[in-house]
Amino acid sequence: MPEKEIAIIGGGPAGLMAAEVLSSAGHAVTVYEAMPTVGRKFLLAGKSGLNITHAEDFSEFRTRFGASSAMLKPALDAFTPDDVRDWAAGLGTETFVGSSNRVFPTTMKASPLLRAWLKRLEAQGVNILMRHRWTGFDDGELMIEALDRRFAVQADAILFALGGASWPKLGSDAAWTGWLADKGVEITTLRPANCGFDVQWSEIMRERFAGAPLKSITATSAAGTFSGEFVVSRHGIEGSLVYAHSAALRDGLEREGHAELVIDLMPGRQLERMAGDIARQDRRASFSTRLRKGAGIEGVKLALLREFVTPADFADPERLAGHIKALPIPLQRPRPIEEAISSAGGVSFDSIDTDYMLDMLPGTFVAGEMLDWEAPTGGYLLTACFATGRAAASGMLQWLEREGGRRR
Ligand SMILES: Cc1cc2nc3c(=O)[nH]c(=O)nc-3n(C[C@H](O)[C@H](O)[C@H](O)COP(=O)(O)OP(=O)(O)OC[C@H]3O[C@@H](n4cnc5c(N)ncnc54)[C@H](O)[C@@H]3O)c2cc1C
Repeated sequence: MPEKEIAIIGGGPAGLMAAEVLSSAGHAVTVYEAMPTVGRKFLLAGKSGLNITHAEDFSEFRTRFGASSAMLKPALDAFTPDDVRDWAAGLGTETFVGSSNRVFPTTMKASPLLRAWLKRLEAQGVNILMRHRWTGFDDGELMIEALDRRFAVQADAILFALGGASWPKLGSDAAWTGWLADKGVEITTLRPANCGFDVQWSEIMRERFAGAPLKSITATSAAGTFSGEFVVSRHGIEGSLVYAHSAALRDGLEREGHAELVIDLMPGRQLERMAGDIARQDRRASFSTRLRKGAGIEGVKLALLREFVTPADFADPERLAGHIKALPIPLQRPRPIEEAISSAGGVSFDSIDTDYMLDMLPGTFVAGEMLDWEAPTGGYLLTACFATGRAAASGMLQWLEREGGRRR
């Protein structure tokens, strides 16, 4: 195939992965990136060690993408977690399997990997134009605004990798939703995923316990029961154990107007035994002393009980032990999407073909978090962004072979 001109809009993990595939096939690739540098969210992910993929059994891994797992299967089969690790190693970043099978670079950083990746892309002739923002369509053309000019993209094929709606200050501001919806593309409303929740705390909880971690607990929702930890914030609750439940809790709030996360504050203790231990404490001692000695409850765990347990239940060892083993925290709403780790919703799989091409815009492909899928934290997000970037690029190569390019 003769060399084609390809425009990729968005320089995050999905866009850069597509650029790698398309440039290695010999095409002239230009990446248009709104921000002064590419991969800002990728670099932020590196601040917490860059959980790049997950080493659980691949048959499990493939099911982590909710209702869209089946749609993502071909892309994930073609770029598996092992492939992610090989790819990173090829760029000089070795990885290791950490706790709960999460995979991290040995450096626990994103910047060396991104630097090596950009070097590779440069060597393959990829032209990255920073501060070049796509601002919508004009007479069917994609309009780009740079510091000193506004122009229409000239390309044989286009790939959007514009990201979701979380952390918009890093670039993915979801401005594209309206522009693509106007073209007849079906967009599922973007919603927070892997997010915290608001809880109506008392003044004492907010002032004295914001920032306090709840460790060695389990939490139950419609998603199941998981162990881990989370943090009390001024607004509510945040952290990995909450994120693991966040899709189920968010959907529950949307569907029924209420949702609660049920906490076992002492997963290692048996209810009856703990009730007996509490009852045996000296009645003249304070509540807090009796709870500390009888159940090992103190600090933020005690504060949480005080928040939701009535004085009558506090005075009854059996009922109190019941609350320690299953304390429902009523949630008001998810924290705003701007604070979420990722977003759910986006371009519907009904609007693209199996090659990730938009039905309404032939020659225009979509990849990454802007597609309508979601996954928990654990390296699933980046893996699916890489995998869909590659799948959309492969789809584009086949389409170019077949059709020759967009009409210009
Ligand atoms: C705090 C935090 C920690 C995370 N940690 C992890 C982790 O450890 N593991 C994991 O798997 N995932 C993690 N993620 C999620 C992961 O970073 C994202 O899922 C991933 O970056 C999405 O890739 P993407 O290429 O689809 O979009 P993005 O990374 O959002 O990239 C989209 C790019 O498009 C550009 N863009 C947007 N609009 C325009 C426009 N109109 N014109 C031109 N350019 C535009 C943006 O500036 C951006 O550079 C984390 C996210 C956050 C916020």
